[in-house]
Amino acid sequence: MIDFHCHLDLYPNPNDVVAKCRDQGLYVLSVTTTPSAWEGTEALRVGCHRIRTALGLHPEIAHQRKGELLLFEQLLPEVRYVGEVGLDGSPELEGTWATQIEVFERILEMCSDAKGRVLSIHSRRAARPVLDLLEAYPCAGTPVLHWYSGSRHDLDRAVAMGCWFSVGPAMTRSARGRELIARMPRTRVLTETDGPFTRNGRQPLMPGEVGQAVSFLAESWSVDSGCAAKQVRDNLRRLVTTSEGRP
Ligand code: MN
Repeated sequence: MIDFHCHLDLYPNPNDVVAKCRDQGLYVLSVTTTPSAWEGTEALRVGCHRIRTALGLHPEIAHQRKGELLLFEQLLPEVRYVGEVGLDGSPELEGTWATQIEVFERILEMCSDAKGRVLSIHSRRAARPVLDLLEAYPCAGTPVLHWYSGSRHDLDRAVAMGCWFSVGPAMTRSARGRELIARMPRTRVLTETDGPFTRNGRQPLMPGEVGQAVSFLAESWSVDSGCAAKQVRDNLRRLVTTSEGRP
């Protein structure tokens, strides 16, 4: 299974969780929310070659952690994956919007210089401004829009711009989420949990618990689940082998 957006470091017992990922042979993009969390999160995956640690600065805390952009810059040469980064247009974050833009723009600028990065991007209530910035920095790397929840129009725009998507069980629970997933090109879709922030009943989703997403992909592509899972694996392989500038 492929979990292309999971916060391994934020589970209560991350070492056990990582050991399970290793035993299950899961492919995980282990995203972080601050540059200062990167080193410890990277250390968690020692011996797990199917887990990669992404360097992130989450938009919800961009205003508190802007000072860590310096550390972001120092660490960027060591990583191929960036995330979680992006913008969040939720009303309660309105006062931080200018800083969010400043931080995300600086990150895209650094990624443009670094070349070849793959970015896991948050765009809640901010699809359009995220796409505007990605358009302004066309060499920032390969964008993977995580849990996309914008309009159909912006989705079509993202597709035309070459964006990829990671979709999780939570998205398949609403009619709107299902409609968006069905509209994504099947060659640019990956699966994710966004655990531990998403739940399956009362329990947080564990890494790789993407079965519901795979089932829905299978349904919307009119194939069986095995076939859909293979498509997602093929997609990941293509993403990993075609992006240039591997550090
Ligand atoms: Mn997340």
